[in-house]
Amino acid sequence: MENDIALFSELCDELLRTERNQPVADPIPTSQLYNQLDLSLHDEGLLDNDLKNTLKEIIKNTPKTASKSFFNQLFGGRIGKATLGDLLAVMLNNSMYTYKVAGPQVGIEKQVLKSICSLIGYSDDSDGTFAPGGSMSNMMAIIMARDAKNELIRSAGLSTKMTLYTSAESHYSISKNAALTGIGKQQVREVKTNEKGEMLAEHLEQLIQKDIEDGYQPFFVNATAGTTVLGAFDDIEAISKVCEKHNLWLHVDGAYCGGVIFSSNYKHLVKGLEHSDSFSVNAHKMLGTPLSCSIIVTQHKAQLHHSFSNEADYLYQTDGDDFNLGKISLQCGRRNDALKIWTLWKSVGTNGLENIVNKQFEMARIAREYINSHKDYRLYSFEDSISVCFTYKDIPSKELCTALYKNSELMVGFGKFNNNEFIRMVTINSVLEKEDVLNFFKTLESFAAKEMSKINAS
Ligand SMILES: *Cc1c(COP(=O)(O)O)cnc(C)c1O
Repeated sequence: MENDIALFSELCDELLRTERNQPVADPIPTSQLYNQLDLSLHDEGLLDNDLKNTLKEIIKNTPKTASKSFFNQLFGGRIGKATLGDLLAVMLNNSMYTYKVAGPQVGIEKQVLKSICSLIGYSDDSDGTFAPGGSMSNMMAIIMARDAKNELIRSAGLSTKMTLYTSAESHYSISKNAALTGIGKQQVREVKTNEKGEMLAEHLEQLIQKDIEDGYQPFFVNATAGTTVLGAFDDIEAISKVCEKHNLWLHVDGAYCGGVIFSSNYKHLVKGLEHSDSFSVNAHKMLGTPLSCSIIVTQHKAQLHHSFSNEADYLYQTDGDDFNLGKISLQCGRRNDALKIWTLWKSVGTNGLENIVNKQFEMARIAREYINSHKDYRLYSFEDSISVCFTYKDIPSKELCTALYKNSELMVGFGKFNNNEFIRMVTINSVLEKEDVLNFFKTLESFAAKEMSKINAS
């Protein structure tokens, strides 16, 4: 093992160097992948030195999500202490289902959940767990809501048409989960949004009324804290009133921007969160931990247990349910995702997490300011968002993004709202500074001047 740790360290040095020198890896066309890299598997193994060289080649060619040119998606960058925590979790290799096997790591997970519950004003009756991602957190919320409405469903299955509500701008996992949980995609109601992409509580109310008249059983509303494209925040306060009136489970999907709970400047964006029944946040997005680190908490500890526990004599052999976390999990064996966020939180404190979140809004503000002060740009996103959406000259955004990627210039994606297509630059890497943001625009402009005339002409 000592040799492998030394090799790991050498490979990391190589990776950090490449990240700086070649921030965007040359993309390999899928048709060339197996010709260009030795990914094949054989009866005979490789000598250590050959293995090292193969790994180096793979590292060199793998997209660099921690580089200063990565603005592509809702994660990016690398925060040392969080990475350290995750590397330790790999070395320790516990499974989080029982206290017997995970010991203090269970305490660490429970502490993170407890601190989050207290931060958002959840009652003492709250609890939570770590899921394999935000999509799965949303699924757990739907399952709890379904079972809370009718506890017999776990044994008897669905017998009524139950409807759920989510905005047109929400994450696709809500609809996908409706299919997976027996609710059915036809029972997903798409609530309209305002011009900023925020759910309209009045339309929600209308949809619910109509469904009740038509004999459906409404049970669940999903509000989003940071929609996937625009980074919009639904009005939780207004939505929670509708939920209360109709006795519906309110889940707040904060996978993207739920991290605002750590910032006194931006916490107001999730005002009313304490009225929700469940809330999820991906620490691997705003808090910059390695993938994946998805947390779901609920005010109904008993419901979490009712919906996910199953007896298993061969597994639960010591200690009480409170410390055998498998009883409230979607999974059986489960990787330790808590240690990375705990190590980060422990080392920088809640104040440090606040700085991480604030920095992203600051970088987004700088980007918007740049866009607004340069006439070749047009801004499509709004304040209080770390998704900066824009077009440049009249270049089709899709083509510009793809060309930037193929030419190893920048990693950035495009999105759509109200039939406008735009570039979506995400300032989620809290390690970046103003000059990196300005450099993004400089790179884009000089690339466009050089290359896009060809593309436009063709
Ligand atoms: C990213 C995201 C998800 C999905 O999270 P995964 O961890 O990728 O499964 C869900 N909802 C929103 C709003 C997201 O931005």
